[in-house]
Parts: sequence; C-alpha cells; structure tokens
Amino acid sequence: MDTIEADVVIIGGGPAGCTCAIYTARADLKTVVLDKNPAVGALAITHQIANYPGVSTEMSGMHLLELMRDQAVEFGTDYRRAQVFGVDINGPWKTVYTPEGTFKARALVLASGAMGRPASFKGEADFLGRGVSYCATCDAAFYKNREVAVIGFNKEAVEEAQVLVKFASTVHWITSSDPKEDDQHAQGLISQSNVRHWSRSRLLSIDGNDSGVTSVQVKTRSSDEAECLPVEGVFVYMSGSKPITDFLGNQIALKEDGGVMVDNFMATSSEGVWAIGDIRNTPFKQAVVAASDGCIAAMAIDRFLNSRKAIRVDWVHT
Ligand SMILES: Cc1cc2nc3c(=O)[nH]c(=O)nc-3n(C[C@H](O)[C@H](O)[C@H](O)COP(=O)(O)OP(=O)(O)OC[C@H]3O[C@@H](n4cnc5c(N)ncnc54)[C@H](O)[C@@H]3O)c2cc1C
Repeated sequence: MDTIEADVVIIGGGPAGCTCAIYTARADLKTVVLDKNPAVGALAITHQIANYPGVSTEMSGMHLLELMRDQAVEFGTDYRRAQVFGVDINGPWKTVYTPEGTFKARALVLASGAMGRPASFKGEADFLGRGVSYCATCDAAFYKNREVAVIGFNKEAVEEAQVLVKFASTVHWITSSDPKEDDQHAQGLISQSNVRHWSRSRLLSIDGNDSGVTSVQVKTRSSDEAECLPVEGVFVYMSGSKPITDFLGNQIALKEDGGVMVDNFMATSSEGVWAIGDIRNTPFKQAVVAASDGCIAAMAIDRFLNSRKAIRVDWVHT
C-alpha cells in the first residue's frame, strides 16, 4: 500500500481542517486533508448557516463547506476521502493509517470534530434543520414572535433558552424534574414573562408537515393526557455530544470533558500535533470558531516547520 509524505496532514475536512489547509497550502507547505465522508460533519449537516461572516444568510452548511474545500484545493491542498483508524505520533514523523494508504508528516492536525448523540425523540431526525435545532445561538433569530420548545435541564439548555427568550413569543421549557430553589440560572429563566415551564414532563413526539415542525406532544407526570403545544421550533439539549478521538489511542492528553487539551497555539501535549475545532470540545461550537482555530494552528505550524521564532502573518506579500 502507498505511503505518502507531506509537510502537514490534517485529519478532518470540516471548517477547522479546511481553514488550516487554506493557510498551510498557501504558505507553500505540502498539505494533505483526509476526510472519511464530507457529508457527515457538523457543518455539512447544518441546514442553513446565517451567522458565518460574509456569506449569504440563506447558505447551507454544505455549500459553505464546499467553498472552503475548493479554496483549500485551489491553493494546492491534496484532499482525499479516507477514514483514519490509527496514528503513531512518536518521533518527529507522525504516521496516519487509513485503508487507502499511510500518510507521514512532520506536522499532524486533529480536526475530526465531535459526534452528536443519536436523535432519540420521535420526529427529531425527520425535522432536523426544519424546526429541530441544537443551537439557539445559531437559529433563535428564525423564531421571532413564534412559539418554541427547549428540551433539557443542563446548563447549556438554560443558557440557550435565555437566548430564545429575546426572540420567541413563548419558550416552553420541558424538563424531567424540578430545578432547585437556589438554582439562580434556572429560576431566572422561569421568572421570564414569556417562559412556560413544563416540570416533571417528557417530550413524546415532534410533529409537523412538509414545511417543518408544527407542534410537540408533552406528557406531564401529574396528568393522564398528553398536551399538544403549537411550537415551530424545538431546541434539544440532551448530553451526549463527544469529541471524535477514538483513532488516537492514549497518545494525546484529553481534558476531563473528553476534548483534546491544547495551548494558545492549538498545540497538543505531543510536539508536532495540533488540535482544532469541535474536537477540543470548545464551549462555543461555531463554524467561525473552528475556522479561527484552523488559522491559529496553521500559522503556528508554519513557524514550527520553518524553525521561525516569530509567527509570519499571511498578509505580508513580497
Ligand atoms: C445541526 C447543527 C447545526 C449547527 N448550526 C451552526 C450554525 O448555524 N452556525 C455555526 O457557526 N455553527 C453551527 N453548528 C456548529 C458547527 O457546525 C461546528 O462547530 C463546526 O462544524 C465544527 O467544525 P469542525 O471542523 O471542528 O468539525 P466538523 O464540521 O464536524 O468536521 C469534522 C470532519 O472530520 C471528519 N472525520 C471525523 N472522523 C474522521 C476520521 N476518523 N477520519 C477522517 N475524517 C474524519 C468528518 O467526516 C467531518 O467532515 C451547528 C452544528 C450542528 C450539529
């Protein structure tokens, strides 16, 4: 089987990986991007991305991703479809194993993203991107003066519901138990005039038609009957999203939350290995944040491979 040598190998061709490749390829570093399936990453499945600077608010995540990939390839990136199943990061040359071949580079970038929990509520998968969302920061503005439901009881659910409160006419907050009296964040949410709290309740189904979500069925423990809420948006915050690090073995230090640990330059615990985007389990999982990580890592890699002391900015042209 072929062994391909490069300056930089990037695992994952999402916004993090593609941005990193744009910069490293443009800096004349031989760059290979390996992606198992460009249709399954977080950006690829984003129905509409209205908050990425400079692109149409109607653009799909897949379209934005294609633009990023094309730009990276235009600058010389060797983009390949291949699933990485293992790496060996000992020594100055890092080796990446795929069924399509072995790749070696002095700089390795981990950009494989995070895996969302599988959709578990009835209707959740059917209406993903058509009313079902996992990101109020991304999608709340679509629900101005409309009714929405927020499912979940964790910190993220409370914070995201607070974002929705500014837009939606009513936010139905559905939780399986009661928040504690001294839980200031939860109590602050419940006290908002447009929040209706459904405590000790569970979501039975998300229903709709060709245009998207039209209602949810909710069952409260104290009642025999399920209730139909006329919502157009359903924001689901159940725990379960995990950084994709299975191919690393125990070779890289992870944080307690499973994200790869990095310094300010996106460098991991192993010299010559960087980690960018959702694989870090950043608190703000956004395409623009992933892209920014990619830029930072690329500039640090350029310095590392060329033994430069200072970071060379991309905009100084000779
Ligand atoms: C439903 C949804 C809606 C969202 N909406 C928005 C939004 O509106 N605005 C916004 O800014 N952000 C949004 N986000 C978040 C944003 O999409 C992510 O933060 C961003 O895509 C992370 O980029 P990434 O490059 O780290 O990972 P990803 O985009 O997930 O890309 C990772 C890539 O790695 C590849 N990969 C994984 N494992 C391997 C392997 N073993 N070998 C080879 N390749 C591998 C995958 O195929 C994938 O292409 C949304 C996320 C979701 C899930």
